[in-house]
Amino acid sequence: MIHIDSLIEHIAPHSCLGCGRNGPLLCSTCSDEYFEQIQPRCVGCKRLSDHFKVCTNCRSWLPLQSVRVSANYEGIAEALVHSLKFDCRRAAAGPIAQLMASQIVDSDGTLLCPIPTAPSRVRQRGFDHALHITKRLSRHTKVPYQQLLRRHTNVRQLGASRLNRIRQMEREFEAIKQGEIKGKHVILVDDVFTTGATLSAAAKVLRKAGARRVSAVVFAQKV
Ligand SMILES: [Zn+2]
Ligand SMILES: [Zn+2]
Repeated sequence: MIHIDSLIEHIAPHSCLGCGRNGPLLCSTCSDEYFEQIQPRCVGCKRLSDHFKVCTNCRSWLPLQSVRVSANYEGIAEALVHSLKFDCRRAAAGPIAQLMASQIVDSDGTLLCPIPTAPSRVRQRGFDHALHITKRLSRHTKVPYQQLLRRHTNVRQLGASRLNRIRQMEREFEAIKQGEIKGKHVILVDDVFTTGATLSAAAKVLRKAGARRVSAVVFAQKV
């Protein structure tokens, strides 16, 4: 089967976001040059932390075992996310997933699960960007994926405290396929880590639904 992206590439070829040469959205030279492994830190407080483990302090509000990050949200990493979410170029999910793949540690009973995008955003873009990344990540790593969360759109209170934001987000998420969640290690997949409210709420909902362990992989963290 011809993949839609390779088809589009023939009609409207990309140029590399790094060097501008015609070809893939991120050529292998730029990918190697710009994306070195970043130092593992706790995403909550940014202190160095083995295997990106969430530290004991941060776990009080971010109940995940680890949140693995592939890049700082700047330069080409930011351009890739922008290209995917705001220019709606699905091909950007390719290099993003490829760069995230090395962060997936597979074990028995592990499932990838995308953070569901707000329905209004999906309608705007015509696709769910986190689902798109997850599908590709699953293909690269052979770890199966499932959409275990549904998202309702509620009115968001801007400027709320972190705790309030997490509570609001918790009401937006609903666990589906409970039978699939019980006893599993669920790895949440998202593009950018900003406040952590979304991941925190999603993890809480999954834990309540019986997940044995919840961790996450995100492509980039704001510096
Ligand atoms: Zn390049
Ligand atoms: Zn921390």
